[in-house]
This record gives sequence, structure tokens and C-alpha cells, in this order.
Amino acid sequence: MCLPIQSRCLGICPKVRIRVYDTLSRCVKTLEPYGEKFGFYCCGPTVYNFAHIGNFRTFLAADLLYRVLKLAGYNPFYVRNITDVDDKTIAGAQQKNVSLQEFTRHWEDIFHADCDALNLLPPDCEPHAVEHMDEQIALVQMLIEKKFAYVRDGSVYFDVSAWKNYGRLSRLDERELRKSTEIAPEKEAVEDFALWKAHKPADGSIFWNSPFGKGRPGWHIECSAMALKYLGNNFGIHGGGIDLCFPHHENEIAQSEAATGQPFTRHWFHVAHLCVNGEKMSKSLGNLYTRADIEQMGYSPMELRYALLAGHYRQPLNFTTESLHASRKALARLERFGRELRNLAGTKIPMVAEFRSLAPAWDALCDDLNVPEALGRIFTHMHRRESDPPPPARAAEEFAEWQRLMFALGIHFEAEEIPAEIEHLARERLMARKGKNFARADFLRRQLDDFGWIIEDTAEGYHLHKKS
Ligand code: AMP
Ligand code: ZN
Repeated sequence: MCLPIQSRCLGICPKVRIRVYDTLSRCVKTLEPYGEKFGFYCCGPTVYNFAHIGNFRTFLAADLLYRVLKLAGYNPFYVRNITDVDDKTIAGAQQKNVSLQEFTRHWEDIFHADCDALNLLPPDCEPHAVEHMDEQIALVQMLIEKKFAYVRDGSVYFDVSAWKNYGRLSRLDERELRKSTEIAPEKEAVEDFALWKAHKPADGSIFWNSPFGKGRPGWHIECSAMALKYLGNNFGIHGGGIDLCFPHHENEIAQSEAATGQPFTRHWFHVAHLCVNGEKMSKSLGNLYTRADIEQMGYSPMELRYALLAGHYRQPLNFTTESLHASRKALARLERFGRELRNLAGTKIPMVAEFRSLAPAWDALCDDLNVPEALGRIFTHMHRRESDPPPPARAAEEFAEWQRLMFALGIHFEAEEIPAEIEHLARERLMARKGKNFARADFLRRQLDDFGWIIEDTAEGYHLHKKS
């Protein structure tokens, strides 16, 4: 069950400001905190087949942003939806002769298993389109009442000519806008898009009743309805793959802002494509790999995670087996460095609130999530340390910094007794308890519990053990 953002306030202010490229203004902008939680919406998967590793490039970049926001103290509230009603899910359920829910649940479970393997943090809220029919219908009705939408043959279309700001995000000219939109003879103008689609025989028994007749929502309306429900107007940041910029996100802005009269989101975050031989990896081109394919090739999900994150999220990334091999080597070096620091440090690892030796790497992450730069700086530091090992107290601090960076990147190592991110959450909780912020401490205990770890308070601090 998701609770809207307003009821999950914890009252924490960011310690560091994060800068991220904003597609709407075409520049890198600081994410300004507002309210007590920072709303983040990422368009989630359409659950009718395996998600491919291109899809995961986008979800991993979103996960990185979520982790960095957490570490910087923004108190993010992350919503990633499940698209479980569209032509593909309906066709799939019909073909298999099962209910829509049975069909989509199967693919959703596989998606979640992939997410766990790739160490994606679960979002704070994962709403399903089919569970938000009332909200979607209400939004369509509001758009009809405000004369931004019209009904034709049981379908409802958004009247693009009534919304003057249309096209600002994607900056396509009128001719291009017309070229790229869906065909339907009953529309008043070619660029108008469907908010509600009338039931057609191919949909069989899959439909919902509405004031406009039986049918189903268009794809774009679900994200507007769920983002507005859980994050309110003018929330922090909205993201997805770059291909969603037009028409999906353009349409989300038009619908939401026309309905509410308020700005929809403050920031647009788009992830460039994962490519194979220079072409976008996509189901339609058939040039895709899944997480399972990569494991069959002999590489671990962590090696895949590293390979997908190692390029800057705004640059297209060409997927190759060599990149997986390079990730293996890089991870082995990182692990060795962490182990050496831990050995030098002994057992007493302090809590770091500030970065010192590894500050340049953290700064690079805060500056438009520059992972290649951050990794470069970590490796430079590691190289320097080979001839200049730190004394125990410094090694202990540096180990804590290293753990924090590994949490930001979502990297953990099999051999570790307690994964870096679990250790990090436990330390944050200890700090919260010391600062008498018991709401935060309880929240972190629940997070640890969600990850399968139990924390017990002891005279020295805490003790962690895995749930059996
Ligand atoms: P879908 O399940 O098709 O709705 O896509 C889920 C997410 O993956 C969306 O944000 C897409 O923009 C993104 N996506 C699709 N293909 C790629 C790719 N080759 N590289 C990066 N992201 C992608
Ligand atoms: Zn969306």
C-alpha cells in the first residue's frame, strides 16, 4: 500500500545540493529541496515480457539518483509505476487465455527478481495502473469539463490545440509533432492523443466502465494520475528513458497541467539509450539481452550493474562483452581496496558524516551523477594509496567513506559479511538515535527489516543479523 507523500514526512533537510541536467531547460540545475520529502517519479516497466538490460540502464540510473538523494539528505519519496494495462498486456493475456492480472503478475514477479539481482532499491511506492482506474477516469473527466478534451465514438482525446505549451519539453516543430503521433480517423487533429480508448472486439472481456463508455485508459494518463496522487503538484523530479520524452512525457505535462492549472514537476531527468552496434536495444529490433542472458554468458548481475552504470547516463552506451569483462576487473580492484582498508583499520569503523579522502568522487556523483568521473577519482586514489597506506585511524575513516560510495553506486561484494549499504543504514540509524531523531531511527529500522536484516541496540552501538 502506498501512502501519498504528505503523510510520510520525516523532517530532514539536505546536507548537500545535487545538480542534475534538466531536459526542459536544457541545462544542469540544482535540485532545490522543498517540503519535507523530495518527490521522484520514474516511469516503470510495461509488464508483458522480460525487461531487457536497456530498460535496466534507465532503472539503474534512477536507482543511482535515488541513492544519491538519500545520502545527500533529500529524504526522497520514490514512485515507480507498473504499466499493466496497454495493448501488449491485453494481447498477451488474451493469447494465454488468462486474466490480465494473472498475466501481468507473472512478468512483474520476474521484473522484481531482476531488480533484486541488480541490487535496485525498492521504490517507496509502486502503484499499478489497473488499481488506479478511478483516479484516471476522474482526471479525464476534469479535462473534458475544462474543454481540453473531447469524446469521439466512446474514446476521449486530448485537444492539443487547446494547450498552448505543447511541445516545450521535446522542442519538436509542428511538422514533427504531427509525424510521430498515433493514427485514429475519429480524432479532430492528427496530434491529439487518446486519454481513454473505447473497447474494441480484440480486447475481449478486458475493459472498465466509465462515463464515456466501456474501454480502458490511454497509456499517458496513468502516470499523470499516479504522480499527482502520490507526489502532488510541482514535485521534485520526473524521469525515464530518453525515448519517453516524446510523446509520453510531453503528454503527461499537457494533461496534468491542463487539469490542475499548476506546474507538474520541477525537473525532467532522461537517460540515454543502451545500444548494440550503435542501435538502440529494443524489443522491436530483437537485439536485446536480458539479465538471465548475461548470467548465462558467465557474468554476475553485479558485473552487469557496474557495466551499465559506468558510462555517463546522458551519453548513449554501447553494450559489449568487453565492458562486462572490464567491470569484473574493476570490481575486483574495488573489493581488494575495501578489504585492505578494513584490515588496516582493525575493527573500530567510525561513522562518516563528511567525505575527506574520497570527497572528489562523491562530488562527481553530486554533479549530474557523473559516474565515470567518480570512478576515475576512486581509482586514482586507490593507485596513490598503493605507495602510501593510511595509518589505522585514517584507514578506518576511509573505509567508511568507501562504504558510503559503494552504497551510492549500489555495489556490494559476495564475500562481505554485511553488505556496505546495510552497514550504512545501520550507522545512519545509530546517528539518528544519538540525535534523538527517533522517527528517523524507526524508519531506518523498517528499511533494514525490508532488506531482511534485524538490528539490535547494544551498549557499543548495534548488532546486525540476517532474518532467518
Ligand atoms: P518499457 O517497459 O518499454 O515501458 O520501458 C521501460 C523503460 O526503459 C523506459 O523508461 C524506457 O525509456 C527505457 N528504455 C527502453 N529501451 C531502452 C534502452 N535501449 N536504453 C535505455 N533505456 C531504455
Ligand atoms: Zn510514464
